[in-house]
Amino acid sequence: SVLERIDSVEEKVESYITVCSESAMERAAEIDKKLAAGEEVGPLAGVPCAIKDNMCTRDMLTTCASKMLYNFKPPYNATVVEKLNAAGTVTLGKVNMDEFAMGSSTENSYFKKTKNPYDLTKVPGGSSGGSAASVAADEAPFSLGSDTGGSIRQPAAFCGCVGLKPTYGSVSRYGLIAFASSLDQIGPLAKDVRDAAMVLDVIAGHDEKDSTSVNVAHPCYENALTGDIQGLKIGIPEEYIGDGIDGEVSSAIYAAIDNMKSLGAESENMNLPLNKYALPTYYMISSAEASSNLARFDGVKYGYRAEQFDDLVDMYCQSRSEGFGREVKRRIMIGTYALSSGYYDAYYKKAQQVRTMIMNDFNKAFEKYDVLVTPTSPTTAFGIGEKTTDPLQMYLADICTVSVNIGGLPAIVIPCGYDKNGLPIGLQIIGRPFGEATILNAAYALE
Ligand code: GLN
Repeated sequence: SVLERIDSVEEKVESYITVCSESAMERAAEIDKKLAAGEEVGPLAGVPCAIKDNMCTRDMLTTCASKMLYNFKPPYNATVVEKLNAAGTVTLGKVNMDEFAMGSSTENSYFKKTKNPYDLTKVPGGSSGGSAASVAADEAPFSLGSDTGGSIRQPAAFCGCVGLKPTYGSVSRYGLIAFASSLDQIGPLAKDVRDAAMVLDVIAGHDEKDSTSVNVAHPCYENALTGDIQGLKIGIPEEYIGDGIDGEVSSAIYAAIDNMKSLGAESENMNLPLNKYALPTYYMISSAEASSNLARFDGVKYGYRAEQFDDLVDMYCQSRSEGFGREVKRRIMIGTYALSSGYYDAYYKKAQQVRTMIMNDFNKAFEKYDVLVTPTSPTTAFGIGEKTTDPLQMYLADICTVSVNIGGLPAIVIPCGYDKNGLPIGLQIIGRPFGEATILNAAYALE
């Protein structure tokens, strides 16, 4: 039935880059057979899902929405894909995104522009726009996204679904095509908090193939959903909810906080004074790491290779010039500049120092508060084409999300109402490192 649904709405929504109907049906039949034989099938047996196209799937196109990888079929699965397979899920296909996960609207995809299912003239958010739109349009019961500076949470907010960015190190990045390795995390987008918790239960955990994955046992997240938030201490960072935030968005956030208080939580306004440096710090660090990570795409080992070139160096140049889109090139240039010997201290090193200070700000806040509650984005979904000519305007859309990645913290986004045009508004709940159970439960209490 989900494949039929894809058939009927995909023309309008365009969530998918690749739909794998045949392999999905085969896989479903295989699980049916196991069930009939009384074999072990896993906690998510038969549940269909969509995977963001920057996670490696064996023998299945994995393009990063880039011309550079238009024909890339990885010889192996990302750890998260292996874990979902072991839990019994059925992969429906690979969903659209901004090229190499750089963007906030999914308009930077080489292949297509995904639409917001709530209003087809609006963007679904980004970079995991296909992950969010597929769930919102019932083209998948859940999906995986990746979040470097908000790419799970902002599309979840724009498309009215639940999105969770886990603590850095709690989900393996093995097989996730890297954008900014010190910020990237994979997480679920789902219809509700319980679904998100169940998927996180499957994908979280140590992986020896990812040296940054943390070796600590995690609790069962689904069992943490009691709905009891009596005594929960909420901090409301004033920097996130003042100037520049749309009035309808802030009213919906305050209404959700009132709701939490009526359930026994306590809230207080507080400050994260270094937050004003989060956006430049993020764009400096993420671009520097991207320029290094993307050096591997040279037309030699995989993906696109230019047809016309004079010699080896020219082949690198032509392949990269033709294979990468404008936004990716912009980040590579910013990052290369920041890492160059004359500017390293002034830009990259400075950004790393500010990163530590921002983390200290959070640490101090979490001595006093259990969670911080904020908007996810200053506005609801914006129009397709509205920000494409002004990269800075696009970067400003990330103002509420990037600091969470700088701090390596977990954060969940849940729907908390609609604006006057019927577009969803997303509430962000930020937790302590490895505080997924707390934020999931706080979100669950509001459902
Ligand atoms: N919008 C942000 C960027 O363009 C975040 C992207 C992400 O989280 N992958 O970098």
